[in-house]
Amino acid sequence: MPEPYWPKRKGSYRLSNAAKNSRYARLRCRYCKTYRYYLIEELKAVFGDIECDDVVYQNDWRCSGCGEKNMIEFDTCNPSATELQASVVRRIDRVVYVRKVIWKDGPD
Ligand SMILES: [Zn+2]
Repeated sequence: MPEPYWPKRKGSYRLSNAAKNSRYARLRCRYCKTYRYYLIEELKAVFGDIECDDVVYQNDWRCSGCGEKNMIEFDTCNPSATELQASVVRRIDRVVYVRKVIWKDGPD
């Protein structure tokens, strides 16, 4: 039985809504079908409580299978233990904050 997809809707369906029904998000490459599971709670920690449809625009998601950018589709799921074992769950390793200095020529 397939996992229920969220209803087709016009309203906003946010990560916090998705997290009530599912623990994982599956980001899948439309090109080569490679996918990774992400914890919805971690996506929310990183991006905030954004709409699920906007997750694919939040990052320069690059497929680790074929290297294509912006070919990622998002859905939510509750994979079985067996499916999880056969798949890659991508977790937050660390968050790096970058401080960038822009120089300009004088006189001011
Ligand atoms: Zn790919």
